[in-house]
Amino acid sequence: MVTRTVMKFGGTSVGDLNRIARVAEIVEARARGGGGGGVAVVVSAMAGATNSLVELARGAAGDALHGQAFDDEYDVVVASGEQVTAGLLALALRRKGLRARSWLGWQLLLNTDEAHGKARIIGVDNPHFSAAVDSGEIAVIAGFQGVDRNGRVSTLGRGGSDTSAVAVAAALQARTCDIYTDVDGVYTTDPRIVSKARRLSRISYEEMLEFASLGAKVLQTRSVEMAMNHRVRVRVLSSFEGDVPGEDAGTLVCDEEEILEKQVVSGVAYSRDEAKFTLYGVADNPGVAAVIFGALADEGVNVDMIVQASARSEGRQNIVFTAPDREAERAKARLESLQEKIGYEALTVGREVAKVSVIGVGMRSHTGVAKTMFEALSGKGINIQVISTSEIKISVLIDASYTELAVRALHTAYGLDAE
Ligand code: ASP
Ligand code: MG
Repeated sequence: MVTRTVMKFGGTSVGDLNRIARVAEIVEARARGGGGGGVAVVVSAMAGATNSLVELARGAAGDALHGQAFDDEYDVVVASGEQVTAGLLALALRRKGLRARSWLGWQLLLNTDEAHGKARIIGVDNPHFSAAVDSGEIAVIAGFQGVDRNGRVSTLGRGGSDTSAVAVAAALQARTCDIYTDVDGVYTTDPRIVSKARRLSRISYEEMLEFASLGAKVLQTRSVEMAMNHRVRVRVLSSFEGDVPGEDAGTLVCDEEEILEKQVVSGVAYSRDEAKFTLYGVADNPGVAAVIFGALADEGVNVDMIVQASARSEGRQNIVFTAPDREAERAKARLESLQEKIGYEALTVGREVAKVSVIGVGMRSHTGVAKTMFEALSGKGINIQVISTSEIKISVLIDASYTELAVRALHTAYGLDAE
């Protein structure tokens, strides 16, 4: 079986023409380096380009671009950034005497659902695509974009070109999808906060999924989900280093079975984009939670931690939950408009909170992981406001001003600091 190569380059890696020339060198080294199989390259828009396009679309549409449903013309605007870089990289490759062509989402038949602005990929269905790759013509693919059932341009949500790359790797049955970015891998925590953070040589899909959804911005969460479902190994690499990455460069996101040295805790993640909502004195009746969270879902608010406890007054509950801070205004307005229907006494919204999480598949089989966390935090005098857990993570909500202190304390407490 031929081994096809899929590489993806993010916005900073294609940030200007010099960077694109550099990417062309990396691609050339792979294409000429042999292995026999063809090469497909997925690109993001130039750094900052998508932000500018989003602003333009907002400016034109006004308030219409709010809430749940995006206008499908939003996608037409924001998808254009990737068209530019795909064309530019194909030109740079041709200049080197390589055969290359660009592919846009609709040409690839990268089919998606109709959820404009955050569409989900159904599949890559152009029957001629893999043959074109196998013919030795380098495919340069515009990431982030697809086409819906009605032939309309769709986009995959911010950071979505990672997911494009994994979908292409799945379609080409590539064993690994190499994601080139401006960091050289996935770290035990944010190296800007903890100088002793270490690069992980391998991390399991499950852990990476938690890292991505808990605030580490290396990969789009959906790309990890898709990689896990299709068993595509993802390697995170720096495009700012040598042309041909060594065997153990970067971080490999792979099946747990492929990881020999398992840590109890693999890393510490944090997110400052959090808001804490407390609904006091909610009537303790069936269906109340459904009304609250149903309304928030309609509003497109992504609710995370939820805690319910009985209130002091008889027949009343307090409900606490978190949501992204950038969605706080919308969520608050909606809940206030529903005060009578829900029947709560008061609502408070805390905006100065952060979520800090420890993640590791080893938690499944080890005890005392939570104890270590709570002791480390209390040792620094950090108060825990909300706790939530899954099989492989523990998250706490704390005062945002303690974020860095908490991350450092936990990194040390779980023995993650580099020597
Ligand atoms: N250019 C898009 C964004 O900034 C997609 C991506 O870079 O992955 O969100
Ligand atoms: Mg990205």
